[in-house]
Amino acid sequence: MSTGTTGTSSDTARPLDEVNLGGHGFHVVGAHYGAGDKASLHCPVCFGELTLLADGGAGRRFRHLIAYDEERCPLSTLSYQPEAPSVRRKRDAALEREQRGAFLENWQRHFQVMRRAAPSLTVRRFIYLVGYADVMNLWSYPSIEQHDLPYVLLTLAQFMRAGAMGGRPVWVRFCFDATVRDVGDLWTHRGPQARLFKMMYNAPRETPFPTSRQLIHYETVRRDTSFLETSPPWMKRADVKEFQRFAAAGRPPVDAERADTGTS
Ligand SMILES: [Zn+2]
Repeated sequence: MSTGTTGTSSDTARPLDEVNLGGHGFHVVGAHYGAGDKASLHCPVCFGELTLLADGGAGRRFRHLIAYDEERCPLSTLSYQPEAPSVRRKRDAALEREQRGAFLENWQRHFQVMRRAAPSLTVRRFIYLVGYADVMNLWSYPSIEQHDLPYVLLTLAQFMRAGAMGGRPVWVRFCFDATVRDVGDLWTHRGPQARLFKMMYNAPRETPFPTSRQLIHYETVRRDTSFLETSPPWMKRADVKEFQRFAAAGRPPVDAERADTGTS
């Protein structure tokens, strides 16, 4: 897959074969993280302290200094259910109406931005994600920036199949750096903008979803903050109809039991 059209910049593009991962560390490439004072290296994703494992022909490999970070960070976790930011907000019907309404009004623009980052995203999956946001009261955060919402939805999607790379099926997942513990941190955090990462994986063999063992590479996604001012994209009629049917059905009841992101 070409990354040139996804609005991303690659931090490391070296494929890591499954056998090279696990206890063998990961690459953190880039002047900011890969060079400088070794004693103060921090993971770009979880901010945990790093330690240099190897500095050979294959580049510098790192692992987290602390086992707790190593277990939880997407770059090293052996869990196929890595932590995602929480969405904890009580429902505020007025805010929801206003902010969900603004999102729906621009849904094609939001969808297009998500597609740019994850070309395999379908309208059906997009609908699942909006439905999931409904159940989780995402729209009730008071300081939502609408232009962040497509990226938030991508992180809520967790693992998605993403077509094939070199004839092999791949998966994708998006996550923010450690400044975003709860989705609301995106809009209350002071300091530099949280980084969003796109992680590509080989298909899992033994687990339902990939772990860091299947991580092929990851990159920083440059977030478009002005797409809402552009004209809406052309879309297939069938996709538009499908979304309109969903939108016309209104918001699901508050006590919807299952929060389904349509995973995989
Ligand atoms: Zn980390």
